[in-house]
Amino acid sequence: MKVEFLPSTVGTPATKQFCISAVVNDTIAIDAGSIGLLWPVEKQLQIRHVFLSHSHLDHIASLPLFLDNVYRLGPDCPAVYACEATIKCLREDVFNDRLWPDFIRLSEEESPFLQLQTLKPEVPVKLHGLTVTPIPLNHIVPTMGFILQDAESTVAVVSDTSPTHRIWEVLAATKNLRAVILDCSFPNSHRWLADKSGHLCPELFADEIQRLPESVHVIAYHLKPCFFSEIEHELKAIRRDNLEIGVTGREYVF
Ligand SMILES: [Zn+2]
Ligand SMILES: [Zn+2]
Repeated sequence: MKVEFLPSTVGTPATKQFCISAVVNDTIAIDAGSIGLLWPVEKQLQIRHVFLSHSHLDHIASLPLFLDNVYRLGPDCPAVYACEATIKCLREDVFNDRLWPDFIRLSEEESPFLQLQTLKPEVPVKLHGLTVTPIPLNHIVPTMGFILQDAESTVAVVSDTSPTHRIWEVLAATKNLRAVILDCSFPNSHRWLADKSGHLCPELFADEIQRLPESVHVIAYHLKPCFFSEIEHELKAIRRDNLEIGVTGREYVF
């Protein structure tokens, strides 16, 4: 399974993500922070399935642009998967003709821009040899983590979240767990903000990963760029092999 964390900057490539998105096997996006900015546009055209963890802007910012960029006349269009609360937000707050044309209504009347699919907790979606299982996390709006499985490996994307429980239970019973990509948004000095906004800081992150076998590769994700060095320093102090900070633009193969 190939996973790439997408860059979200203009100009010099950066290691930090301002907007959140990852692409799996070139065709499946986990969040849509910057998929609509990918160049060449053929890279956008390859993405046929978009899973949204939740409705926050850093995860959906470029979705309207992406759908516009890949639109073609005909019945073929990308599928967008999200929980009920996120779909409600897309309908009422994004595709409402004010912020952006109502692609959802237009998709019912003309050649579709997108096909919306509602995710139910723990109900897997099967696509091209990959199974994606959404598991509710613990954030300030309804949010799904994703367990990605192919014949050889299992990888979990666990963001955005504060301390959580169910996904660790499910992963404990899952075969071939290779990697967990986990929220670590704030430094320990801002634990108050992590608590209030539903995120992790390194000391909370360390508690969460204690539930994972040592062999599992842990990748810190969703680091706020303005605190990057402080979080990096604190993550280095966690004694664990196989722990690293996710690097944008690098292809991870699990
Ligand atoms: Zn969020
Ligand atoms: Zn976020």
